[in-house]
Amino acid sequence: MTLTNWAGNVVFTPERYVRATSVEQVQELVAGAAKVRVLGSGHSFSTVAATDGLLLSLEDLPLNVDVDTATSSARVTASARFAHVMPPLHSAGLALHNTGSLPHISVAGAAATGTHGSGTGNRCLAAGVTGIELIGPDGELRTLRTGDKDFDGSIIALGLAGVVTALTLKAQPTFDVRQYVYDDLPLAALIANFDEIMSSAYSVSAFTHWRGPNMDLLWRKQLASDPAAPPTYFGATLADSARHPIDGMPTENATQQLGVPGPWHERLPHFRFEFTPSRGDEVQSEYLLPIEQAGAALAAVDAVREQFLPALQVAEIRTIAGDDLWISPAYGRTTVGFHFTWTDDLSKVTPAIAALEGALAGFDARPHWGKVFGLPREQVRSLYPRLGDFEELVHRVDPQGKFTNAFTRAYLDLPA
Ligand SMILES: Cc1cc2nc3c(=O)[nH]c(=O)nc-3n(C[C@H](O)[C@H](O)[C@H](O)COP(=O)(O)OP(=O)(O)OC[C@H]3O[C@@H](n4cnc5c(N)ncnc54)[C@H](O)[C@@H]3O)c2cc1C
Repeated sequence: MTLTNWAGNVVFTPERYVRATSVEQVQELVAGAAKVRVLGSGHSFSTVAATDGLLLSLEDLPLNVDVDTATSSARVTASARFAHVMPPLHSAGLALHNTGSLPHISVAGAAATGTHGSGTGNRCLAAGVTGIELIGPDGELRTLRTGDKDFDGSIIALGLAGVVTALTLKAQPTFDVRQYVYDDLPLAALIANFDEIMSSAYSVSAFTHWRGPNMDLLWRKQLASDPAAPPTYFGATLADSARHPIDGMPTENATQQLGVPGPWHERLPHFRFEFTPSRGDEVQSEYLLPIEQAGAALAAVDAVREQFLPALQVAEIRTIAGDDLWISPAYGRTTVGFHFTWTDDLSKVTPAIAALEGALAGFDARPHWGKVFGLPREQVRSLYPRLGDFEELVHRVDPQGKFTNAFTRAYLDLPA
């Protein structure tokens, strides 16, 4: 059987692949291996999870989601996907602060790469982690909590701080959300009023196929208690039926819209868990830059649209609050994410990425670790002020480089 990532653009060829069934087994396997990586739910498009050593899946670890209403938190095992975690939290009267676009993604894998949703006030998902249990290269299990010296370098760590077996997630009181979609927001209006539009609701996304002067869809996920959305907004018109981010895709795959109130976990993701959004025919890239640069960067990207259009399925603009996690794409700054879902034809995707990266040069654009990018090593390194601290941490906790792989060594100074 060929082992691939979700999209099929990465084929894994490890020396050994093991689906572990207990933490003790993981400890033994890690202690005895020369090189180890963990494969989460395989939703990364980059080769971040790949290894030529031991590839571990933790999906068969007994699934536990222990919700603690006294501390407003949940301890979840590394086998958990967001879809496993969200309903029990909601049933207990609690919520996560945000979700990514899919509930299918593993919590540990999302934390490892800095996966985020949208909302100028919402930090990335890893920023909601308050504790991790992880196995070091010697097989020892240790726990790190918020405030510990290594904590801020160990959550978004691309698997380099150890094998995470469980995470504790901070929760907040549950809330209801209404999702409204607008058609045809002029790009010029978005550029001129970026902060106002993108912070007009709890979570806002702008989707476009970049074919004309308008952003095709503006998705506003607002607190249910906020006033209903007006029929027009900055030249955009409220949609009168459900939409899918990609033209022509079935709208029943998307979460409920039209302002129908519902719990956070059934509105904040774009896609329903019961349906798998387009599979195997896409590659994704995303660049995260300071929100102050959003207007100028949008204009710069618009100017090269003809060069990336042949590869584009859809683009999405989101915002993310800044955080303190050392190699987070949103480290230290309120951030705008320019996301691109490409076709799977690399002969078109590669030049599209080059054109885009050319347009974004000078905007301090950090690439999403889990998506495809072409930026050179030195440029990537220059984007993270705490990179040196992160490398020191990895050298200290994993001096032999057991958890490194070709992807991480391509950008970081790590033990080989
Ligand atoms: C359809 C689709 C939609 C997406 N939507 C979003 C989105 O809305 N926002 C966004 O930011 N990204 C998004 N992504 C990207 C995705 O969230 C990230 O790539 C994420 O890291 C995938 O998690 P995973 O579990 O699938 O991890 P994998 O791809 O399996 O692994 C990612 C990294 O995590 C490490 N890892 C996984 N589990 C462990 C563990 N237990 N211990 C140590 N290391 C571990 C792996 O070694 C690897 O380095 C999307 C991807 C797809 C395919």
